[in-house]
Amino acid sequence: MNSKYEAVIGLEVHAQLLTDTKIFCGCSAKFGAPPNTNVCPVCLGHPGVLPVMNKKVVEFTVLMGLAAECKINERSIFARKNYFYPDLPKGYQISQYEEPICQYGKITIEFKDGLKKDIGITRIHMEEDAGKSIHDQGYTTMIDVNRCGTPLMEIVSEPDMRSAEEAYLYLTKLKQILTYLGICDGNMEEGSLRCDANISVRLKGETKFGTKTEVKNMNSFRNVEKAIEFEIERQIDIIEEGGKIIQQTLLWDADSNVVKPMRSKEEAHDYRYFPDPDLMPVVVDKKWKSEIASSMPELPDARKERFTNQYLLPKYDAEVLTSSRELADYYEKVLTVTNDYKSASNWIMTDVLKVINDEKISINEFPVSAENLGRLIMLINDNVISGKIAKEIFPEMLKTNKEPNEIVKEKNLVQISDTGEIEMAVDKILSANPKQVEEYLSGKDKVLGFFVGLIMKETKGKANPQIVNELLKSKLGRLKGK
Ligand code: ADP
Ligand code: MG
Ligand code: ZN
Repeated sequence: MNSKYEAVIGLEVHAQLLTDTKIFCGCSAKFGAPPNTNVCPVCLGHPGVLPVMNKKVVEFTVLMGLAAECKINERSIFARKNYFYPDLPKGYQISQYEEPICQYGKITIEFKDGLKKDIGITRIHMEEDAGKSIHDQGYTTMIDVNRCGTPLMEIVSEPDMRSAEEAYLYLTKLKQILTYLGICDGNMEEGSLRCDANISVRLKGETKFGTKTEVKNMNSFRNVEKAIEFEIERQIDIIEEGGKIIQQTLLWDADSNVVKPMRSKEEAHDYRYFPDPDLMPVVVDKKWKSEIASSMPELPDARKERFTNQYLLPKYDAEVLTSSRELADYYEKVLTVTNDYKSASNWIMTDVLKVINDEKISINEFPVSAENLGRLIMLINDNVISGKIAKEIFPEMLKTNKEPNEIVKEKNLVQISDTGEIEMAVDKILSANPKQVEEYLSGKDKVLGFFVGLIMKETKGKANPQIVNELLKSKLGRLKGK
């Protein structure tokens, strides 16, 4: 990026709420039902029907508002946003406009080097989703209205971000909080989390904002980052060539990695917002607010902090383990079986996460139960098996989720800690390799590793490595003394 310029970015994020039913009727809000099956006169907007507010939608939005340290307005109202589109049978979308439920909050992002920055939250409001137009069926456009009335929460940030990286970190943090709260699954690919990026650039030192564009249609976190980077460069190029930025809506094209203007007809909106006469104001009194607050789970930053204090984990471990609520839960479940905090962390950060990333599964689908991983760690710590054998048992557990001690028994893998038996193996290896013994005696300490390797092989990896080392050193020491 041209270093004379600075980018200014504000994000509008739509989060689909995980309620069972829609926002103003009893239809199922579940994703993936056959087209046009989850509908009723209310969400289809038939004349004469009345919407009824879903209490859960208010509670979820207030919960997010509290997590983002917003002011929760005691009274907020719904408005009609009027526009015509085939997938909006009512001709208007119920949203909040002038009096939203939450305002003036912040989300803290953290850079790789530990530096933190607050991103202001302008507002969080509730609204209903529209239906879906499906354009890729030949010459016909199909309409699926299942999504009409699905509850959404819109989170609008202040124009506080200064780079694509900051926007990426902000989105990641937002998703983390939403999933910790259990109010949205945060899946951008499936559209349950959608992000519109407002972008402008200005000369460094300038205090006024430049003209912004709005980029839509990014369906992954990486695409948001790429689209913002592209748009920043595009705007700088225009200004450098003496041109002016036109305020417009652009669509990200993930195939060609460019932004393209939306057809201006689609863009020309005059929503004629007005208060919805069918809905009462939403009143969140002190009592309700504190009830909602008391259901607040531990948030990611607090949990990360606790992991470093309570389990004495390095910051990096705590960060990875608390990246999702499910992973943190898994970790703490392992700790119900073993209190070896660091080993549990190591196993999860390497062996468990490797499988999860390779197989593209979630921790909830991971085949080894947390309890069995805890038991495996205990078998090592109790000297029943060596760490090396544990790494051999682990793939077996992945296949079967058998208890590790069962596998140890079946395969006869119990560690040999019987000094007599190990001594025999040591003697055998030493007498079979007189040349290397000579080398050791003449000062080549490195051959020790060679002996250990052979002894472990001799005992099929089952010898307690600590005892092997001790015996080996004392035997060779005695030879040296002669
Ligand atoms: P609009 O009326 O066009 O929807 P808003 O004032 O409601 O604009 O802001 C929408 C989003 O755009 C917010 O997230 C806000 O932070 C951001 N925004 C506003 N002005 C700018 C700007 N000049 N550059 C970048 N982002 C901006
Ligand atoms: Mg706006
Ligand atoms: Zn309905």
